[in-house]
Amino acid sequence: MSTTADAGQDPTHGGTVPGGSGRVVVVGSANVDLVVDVPRHPGGGETILGGDLRRNPGGKGANQAVGAARAGGADTTFVGALGHDDAADLLRASLERGGVRTDLVERVDAPTGTALITVSPDGENAIVVAPGANSHVTVGAAQAERIAAADVVLAQLEVPLDVVRAAAAARRPGALLVLNAAPSRDLPDDLWDTIDVLVVNEHEAADLVGPTEGETDPSSLASLLLLRVPAVVVTLGGRGSLVHERLPGGTLGTDVPAVPVDAVDTTGAGDTFCGVLAAALARGADLPDAARLAAAAGALAVTRPGAQDAVPDAADVVALARRADGLT
Ligand code: ADP
Repeated sequence: MSTTADAGQDPTHGGTVPGGSGRVVVVGSANVDLVVDVPRHPGGGETILGGDLRRNPGGKGANQAVGAARAGGADTTFVGALGHDDAADLLRASLERGGVRTDLVERVDAPTGTALITVSPDGENAIVVAPGANSHVTVGAAQAERIAAADVVLAQLEVPLDVVRAAAAARRPGALLVLNAAPSRDLPDDLWDTIDVLVVNEHEAADLVGPTEGETDPSSLASLLLLRVPAVVVTLGGRGSLVHERLPGGTLGTDVPAVPVDAVDTTGAGDTFCGVLAAALARGADLPDAARLAAAAGALAVTRPGAQDAVPDAADVVALARRADGLT
């Protein structure tokens, strides 16, 4: 369902990159996820025994890069930083398996980013992230040159805000900055002004709007965020997503349904969604169409365990999106 409302604020959002060639640069984090199943999460000072340790490639930046390349079919470069350790080798191999260009990933004198994750039987995660190398990501001349050739720059908030600023500044005119504002943190005014498309889940949307508004309805949150950016996507897990845009004739809200699947593991659904959204925008899709394709990719991702390992192939994403389109 789509609705038009009153005339929006400037600048409006075209939602498309005219003549976009499908080039995406993802600027962000890469983490090795150390995952243990536990009977329950330990309290302070407590030791408990868990299951066998799993070591998975993760980090929002690296996950989204694999999403854009493998599930979105875009020419994708990852700009990030890894240490000099075997976790770095694991991540590089996963990125390359996913079809991501890694030539601009730097090796720095800090441990590769690590996420310590315990998973309780009800599927709840407790996570501690040691950013390590992710705190040392830089946008140097080579990275800026690649960003300047991109149609879409996709960033998240697991790297220093200055990195996001530098990536935004290196864009060519007409290229889009898609910011997945996760994990939640306050955004300074100058960063708000660089965003073309903001992607958040409903918790992050509420955090960005702030508690003073007391707002929890996703559509109202999207409308409030649209006062600050030209386009917003609020993802709602198995309930789909809301796309709100300022267009020349007014504001447009589009509900994008989730594609029904049997969910096995929701880790990485949001990252796959963001990667495919960026890839579709880079090829010139409008934002609602990009979100429909991203929804198919997110749905396939939840049918498999893991993050980067759960990212589907582009052909399967397109096939499911077509089937879903026929159903609605
Ligand atoms: P995040 O992981 O960032 O919280 P979401 O859980 O909102 O992101 O998922 C992003 C998108 O992935 C959703 O908007 C939806 O299209 C798809 N998705 C997530 N969970 C499911 C599910 N259980 N079934 C079908 N699609 C899903």
